[in-house]
Amino acid sequence: MKSLRSENYTKEFVSTFPGDDSGDLNPRQTPGKLYSKAVPTPVEKVTLLAWSGELAAELGIKKPEEQQELDILGGNHVTEAMYPYAACYAGHQFGSWAGQLGDGRAIILGEWQIPDAKTVELQLKGAGPTAYSRRADGRAVLRSSVREYLMSEAMHYLGIPTTRALSLVATGEPVLRDMFYNGNAAYEPGAIVMRVAPSFLRFGNFELLNARKEHEQLRQLVDWTISRYYPHIQGEDKVITWFKEVIERTASLVVEWQRVGFVHGVMNTDNMSILGLTIDYGPYSFLDDYDPDFTPNTTDLPGRRYAFGRQPSIAYWNLGCLAAALLPLVEKDLLLPALESYKEVYWRKYYTMMGNKLGLDKLKSGDTDLISQFENTLADVKPDMTIFFQLLIDLPLYMGSTSEVAAYFKDSLYEDLTEEQSAQLYTLITAYLERLNKNTITRQDSQELMRKTNPRFILRNYLLHQAIEGLEKGETELFEKLQQALKEPYSNKYDEFFETRPGWATQKAGCSMLSCSS
Ligand code: AMP
Ligand code: MG
Repeated sequence: MKSLRSENYTKEFVSTFPGDDSGDLNPRQTPGKLYSKAVPTPVEKVTLLAWSGELAAELGIKKPEEQQELDILGGNHVTEAMYPYAACYAGHQFGSWAGQLGDGRAIILGEWQIPDAKTVELQLKGAGPTAYSRRADGRAVLRSSVREYLMSEAMHYLGIPTTRALSLVATGEPVLRDMFYNGNAAYEPGAIVMRVAPSFLRFGNFELLNARKEHEQLRQLVDWTISRYYPHIQGEDKVITWFKEVIERTASLVVEWQRVGFVHGVMNTDNMSILGLTIDYGPYSFLDDYDPDFTPNTTDLPGRRYAFGRQPSIAYWNLGCLAAALLPLVEKDLLLPALESYKEVYWRKYYTMMGNKLGLDKLKSGDTDLISQFENTLADVKPDMTIFFQLLIDLPLYMGSTSEVAAYFKDSLYEDLTEEQSAQLYTLITAYLERLNKNTITRQDSQELMRKTNPRFILRNYLLHQAIEGLEKGETELFEKLQQALKEPYSNKYDEFFETRPGWATQKAGCSMLSCSS
């Protein structure tokens, strides 16, 4: 195990690509540059709030003990072995071209060398302004940092590709935020998360170089990405092969989100990882009640562009932006069919996942109709998604009446069923039981498959909200319990959290919907 103060870093990105090494933190455009040096701005006092021991062990990082090591986690200490920088990227936000964006409050300290493995980037989020902060302060509040810290770890333990969080520290400094965007700005405690990923490159890094017509650098970045992160791809047609793999990974990622009912909330192209990781946790949410139109992001409300049910098609739209950025390197005639293949790839993966969720053996003809019937019925009845699928695992193999079915699913419901809804649910469950009957695997194996596919514990927004309220008052009990529970999402060990969202949380800000203010 090595200390964060050790020399165990490389500086590959900054020594490969042109950057602005001046260290100037004034906001500006940086044409011709892929990054700008940004030394973190020191904070009042760095206090450790959370440390991911298992991740640290995997990375070979020793838990900080002395203040100087802790200071690294809050940007108060940067060593010679590091080279702190903010990456320059662009993106499409809510469907419109936004031009240069860049890491406005994220600073990569360096690439950490994992023993006998590759490197990961260590990045501080909230460590002060960079050349890309535009009019904002480069800081993050405790509220959003706790959400990022817990949720990225929760996604990891759910088995979903994600950036990780190594640490969460308080800065001892207040940060001014207008949480509801209504002119009532208030001070909130500041915090910093140390994020970890093999790479934080986004679709937007590639879009930027194409928009600036820096084709040589675009080629260099694509080559670098392939050789470092997709080393199995070689040969003359490697760029198109790579693009197809990015499509595969992105489709897999979204299928995983749909599996657990995760809504990202801000699927802008600058928040789409080139490695297919869940990245940039903001106003995200799990579904409580099953609603394809649900978006957790108040800014997204008019169009619901980033609603649960639209995530698969938005991913396709975003891949289209990436394809457009690659036009200087690959012929359109190759890019377009590759892009179109997303649909086939997505549906194939999606139906396989849904088959697993439902405990079906191999998909048979008619199964896609049954899956659609599930989607439609759930959208009408709006049960709690997580609880519904848990109940489905132990469904009695005979259900004689409408009322029996309604009673069985009662604990997953937010509202009493209408007669029509009861009938619809009964028809669905009858069809499902018929299909289960045709399974060639045993009931036990089918239930095993369902238990592995359907989480029982999810980090609901109201739980996060309560944990944050506690932390702001210095109470750590719920925060710590959630850190444990999120490590075993498929077990029933934390059934104290196995209940529908309480009524009081339905309309409360932060418990269902959130703003981008963070
Ligand atoms: P997001 O939608 O949260 O991924 O952020 C979009 C852009 O805004 C990114 O370039 C961020 O770095 C930047 N940004 C968000 N919050 C801040 C902040 N407090 N200070 C500086 N830049 C920010
Ligand atoms: Mg972002």
